[in-house]
Amino acid sequence: MPTPVGAPKLVAFNEPLAQSLGLTWEAGPDRGAVFAGNLVPEGADPLAQLYSGHQFGQYNPQLGDGRAILLGEVVDQGGVRRDIQLKGAGRTPYSRGGDGRAWLGPVLREYLVSEAMYRLGVPTTRALAAVTTGEPVYRERALPGAVLTRVASSHLRVGTFQIFAARGQHEALARLTEYAIARHYPDAEGPMGLLRAVRDAQAELVAAWMSFGFIHGVMNTDNCSIAGETIDYGPCAFMDVFDHHRVFSSIDRMGRYAYANQPSIAAWNMAQLATALIQLAEDPNDWVNEATEIVHGMPDRLQAEWIDRFRAKLGLRSEQEGDLELITDLLRIMSDGQADFTNTFRALLEGGARDQFVDPAAFDAWETGWRRRLEAEEEPEATMRHANPVLIPRNHRIEALIAEAVEGDFTSFHRLNDALANPFDARPAFEDLRRPPTEREVVQATFCG
Ligand code: AMP
Ligand code: MG
Ligand code: MG
Repeated sequence: MPTPVGAPKLVAFNEPLAQSLGLTWEAGPDRGAVFAGNLVPEGADPLAQLYSGHQFGQYNPQLGDGRAILLGEVVDQGGVRRDIQLKGAGRTPYSRGGDGRAWLGPVLREYLVSEAMYRLGVPTTRALAAVTTGEPVYRERALPGAVLTRVASSHLRVGTFQIFAARGQHEALARLTEYAIARHYPDAEGPMGLLRAVRDAQAELVAAWMSFGFIHGVMNTDNCSIAGETIDYGPCAFMDVFDHHRVFSSIDRMGRYAYANQPSIAAWNMAQLATALIQLAEDPNDWVNEATEIVHGMPDRLQAEWIDRFRAKLGLRSEQEGDLELITDLLRIMSDGQADFTNTFRALLEGGARDQFVDPAAFDAWETGWRRRLEAEEEPEATMRHANPVLIPRNHRIEALIAEAVEGDFTSFHRLNDALANPFDARPAFEDLRRPPTEREVVQATFCG
């Protein structure tokens, strides 16, 4: 059961999401109490889930929901079953040394970034509510406590499979596999069918992240969703200046989860899922070839998704030889020229892209080739408009609004959230949110919270 808090106060509520979930029990003055965990809604049957996983490549034999409590499931208006989970709701049997709590900063960050992801069209868990608890949480100092309500198409992770495989609990593993297939991939046949489906979903997901300059930051197998949604918004960030090797997470000292490593890490995670699932074969050797073929197919799948996404960013719908070079050449000069990722791509549509580069001459040479390539396209502007957002939740904005919220002022939080509801529309009222950080504003590291 969630641990009740002293003085719950609702600070954000996602009305459209609540409606799409068909929620009625949350209405009225009790919302704060419900989404803090003080008032467990009728019909809810709270539980914490067990899982394990590889953290930074090392297998941890037991993890689990250390501060997350699943309230239950609802079937939404689209007929999709969704989990509703409180994050920061108190200790569980899997909390180990942790306090089971979250502080306001990461709660607001997850609320904003996950909802922005959704609006960008990237598969993701969503944010239904944020509540302050009226109680302090102790990190480096005392900070205001908060609870986030997360909605996911499930909380099954690669690590959920790993734990039963590692423990040799094959019956549980088989039931979990059947359950995952029925819930997420009803057309998949057997464990290898599931592996293939998850691989494809993860390939699409990571290609989408790459196309928006997103760095997840903690792609451990326990944070790798079977449904193919972005999950666990801890030390994540959208890049400002483009850099293949960019890392934000304060705990990722080796750069394992750097921007450009994400595709290979996603494939590595699929290898861990394969290792778990082949335990279900009567003789695991029977499935090794197929599992290997599926996992080894991941780079090509991801590359195909990636090139589609980046073609669209350049306004290209047709496929031509040389497109890959056109894309990688641009990324190279962006990196050399310290160009802002989001603003450079949008400027290909709006004009002024050369101004994003320290050395505009390099861009001019690239542009000539690009313009020639565009002659083969019908409506490149329309393609670019839906691939290149105006707005992303920039780190320096998030840090600033968290500082204000800690002081009790949520104005900037709500404003950024409103702006990000339409990330592909240029609107004068939100023009200032497009600005990259000044040197002093640059955020160097993000934290798990
Ligand atoms: P993450 O790296 O965010 O996936 O978290 C790793 C594990 O630590 C998960 O099992 C979390 O539930 C757990 N965890 C993170 N923060 C806390 C906390 N404050 N109290 C208890 N468990 C936590
Ligand atoms: Mg996690
Ligand atoms: Mg986390």
